[in-house]
Amino acid sequence: MKKLTLLIIEDEEAIRDMLRFSLSNSEFNLIDAENTSKAMRILSQHTPDLIILDWMLPDMSGIDFIKQIKKQEILNEIPIIMLTAKAEEDNKIMGLMVGADDYITKPFSPNELSARIRTVLRRGLIKSPSDEVRLDELCINTNKCSVSIRSSVLKLTPIEYRLLYFFVLHPDKIYSRDQLINYIWGRNAYIDERTIDVQIKRLRCKLEPHGYHERIRTVRNAGYIFNRNDHVKAK
Ligand code: CA
Repeated sequence: MKKLTLLIIEDEEAIRDMLRFSLSNSEFNLIDAENTSKAMRILSQHTPDLIILDWMLPDMSGIDFIKQIKKQEILNEIPIIMLTAKAEEDNKIMGLMVGADDYITKPFSPNELSARIRTVLRRGLIKSPSDEVRLDELCINTNKCSVSIRSSVLKLTPIEYRLLYFFVLHPDKIYSRDQLINYIWGRNAYIDERTIDVQIKRLRCKLEPHGYHERIRTVRNAGYIFNRNDHVKAK
């Protein structure tokens, strides 16, 4: 089996050591960098299968680093998992908006991270060089912030767009109303939980003519889940 190469960009030596120790095995091959300039040098010679990127780095923020990578044809399809500290949680949605595929909050266990790595690598969303995220016939253009299904362009509000983008990047996992509010509006937003219900209802209405509405399922007493496959029907 071909080993998958992971590039870790993290300035804290202890975390790099921990990851190197826990993730180097028969499955993964690790390369690490303590700053983004070293990471760029590595990326000029290697194309890793996935990047694990710290949010706060000495020479450039993780967000700016993602923006740079996304401009480069060969690099922009590499999935990225961001490492964020608790206090930086507000910024998670920003990370997702600029193109990170997932994030994990410090402190985390190596097992948790390797589970996330597998999920991201398995997700199978095709990101083409034109900044498109596809799920079956649904296509999200992250440059234009537009969504189309087959050849129809959906008229979504910015909130509906963010909700759908979030769901497509995080399928098959239940999110509470509170979590969705944090991801979509930010942690400090004062948003009533019923607002989420209203927004999801509107989003479903817009997806219904295209047959994608049943992928967003309400989970009683828990929140919402977006099904990656359409054979799981809503009850
Ligand atoms: Ca750091």
